[in-house]
Amino acid sequence: MNNSVGSRNVASVSLWIGGRKQPSSSVRHGEVTNPATGAAIRKVPFCNAADIDAAVKAAAAALPEWRDTPPLRRSRVMQRFLALLQANQRELARLVTEEHGKTLPDAMGSVQRGIEVVEFACGIPHLLKGEHSENVGSGVDCHTVRQPVGVCAGVTPFNFPVMVPLWMFPVAIACGNTFVLKPSEKVPSASMRMAELAKEAGLPDGVLNVVHGDKEAVDAMLGHPGIAAVSFVGSTPVARHIYETCARNGKRVQALGGAKNHAVVLPDADLEFAAEALAGAGYGSAGERCMAVSAVVAVGAAADPLVALLKKRAEAIVVGPGDKEGVDMGPLVTAQHRDKVAGYIDAGVKEGAALVVDGRGTKVAGYEDGYYLGTTLFDHVTPGMKIYRDEIFGPVLVVLRTPTLEDAIALVNRNPYANGVAIFTESGGAARRFENEVEVGMVGVNVPIPVPVAFYSFGGWKSSLFGDLHVHGIEGVKFYTRTKAVTTRWPHQDTPAPGLNMPTLG
Ligand code: NAD
Repeated sequence: MNNSVGSRNVASVSLWIGGRKQPSSSVRHGEVTNPATGAAIRKVPFCNAADIDAAVKAAAAALPEWRDTPPLRRSRVMQRFLALLQANQRELARLVTEEHGKTLPDAMGSVQRGIEVVEFACGIPHLLKGEHSENVGSGVDCHTVRQPVGVCAGVTPFNFPVMVPLWMFPVAIACGNTFVLKPSEKVPSASMRMAELAKEAGLPDGVLNVVHGDKEAVDAMLGHPGIAAVSFVGSTPVARHIYETCARNGKRVQALGGAKNHAVVLPDADLEFAAEALAGAGYGSAGERCMAVSAVVAVGAAADPLVALLKKRAEAIVVGPGDKEGVDMGPLVTAQHRDKVAGYIDAGVKEGAALVVDGRGTKVAGYEDGYYLGTTLFDHVTPGMKIYRDEIFGPVLVVLRTPTLEDAIALVNRNPYANGVAIFTESGGAARRFENEVEVGMVGVNVPIPVPVAFYSFGGWKSSLFGDLHVHGIEGVKFYTRTKAVTTRWPHQDTPAPGLNMPTLG
């Protein structure tokens, strides 16, 4: 990212503070490019501490009224927001494709998965119900309530410009918190559009705010005393930094990190089915998914036929601009990232892995300045190699070979990342053993990308998540609320009589 875009004639993205677009007071800017063409399409301000303070103040000012708004009314705002997201799904997906590069059908799917979190958040009155015990002592009752934590912040990665912000702010806001969102500086526009839609849905000004920028903006958020809780999704080194800084500053934190997701394929699996699923999971979104399968573990006799099938599929994938009909895989997000991924392919060759399909040198006619890289497949990869150890985050699938299921499980469990994992088999017993023994947060059985639906929670283990609670689902509600336990005794009871009309509380 440049620190100044100088004379380029492109519009600047605004901040969204207090329910309206606002300029930044920072002099630093970045450049948003369309990865399909390489063209600069927008400038994005890199917020300073004053911008962050303005956003937190707006969120703090909106908090008392929003916190006291009945959950049923908060849910009605969510219902209108849901309808607006559905009505504008294609427009949001187009923004995702324009700034990220993934294909339009893939972008539509990712927006859909985000919308499902809003559907979940519509049920907030039910989800916030506490517990009640009568007579915990003579004439004494005890109950619990879940209260919002205050101003919450979200910092999100480039690879899901709509879905990952939607993992966070709808649940936080439905719980009665107010929110400051900092999307990735590479893909800022979809968050701005969602903030406009939330306002149109009736969300009061200041409840949702959007800021932009890089480390300076994030560190200002982590150090701001007005922020009570931080949700982060991104790479592992940054997740660790967020977690440690928040812990030091007394903030509640969940920090989801990077991944190296394995798929174990047993010889009894339907190999055609597995290869089809793995090509989609490895090369979909150009491998820029935290749940992408990047390491295939072929057990015993599965290896040779599986590699042959993967080769066929990898070679058939059509690379091109994400908004063009018939394209299977778009470009990578930036030229710098494309070059980094290509560097990993060089390293794999140097370390002695067998390069079965080479994506380097892929050109797309008419889009010579786009950030394209073809599908790449390595066989005979060993655990010591850099292409196995590191998260590549590109269209590079590596195949390791093990003699037994036991060896495959041990290999997966030795890896420091533990986001998602899958097994392909026809054996219920093998699948059950795998599910039981594998030390990974999300497991798929013949499902290559086991992203839990919105009413379950999403999160990995080990270096893929720092913190205790996963996002959305009931763990999301727990993260964005504090439990209060109330013990009550009433020596005298004096209740007023109800009036003549049907009582309504919402
Ligand atoms: P990133 O860590 O570079 O950036 C994520 C966010 O942190 C961005 O908003 C960025 O502006 C900010 N940031 C970057 N460097 C920072 C620093 N030094 N200090 C403070 N803030 C900083 O990640 P990315 O490249 O945008 O996204 C790709 C990564 O995200 C991959 O590692 C991928 O696995 C991971 N990811 C994980 C999940 C998950 O659920 N575990 C989901 C999506 C993406």
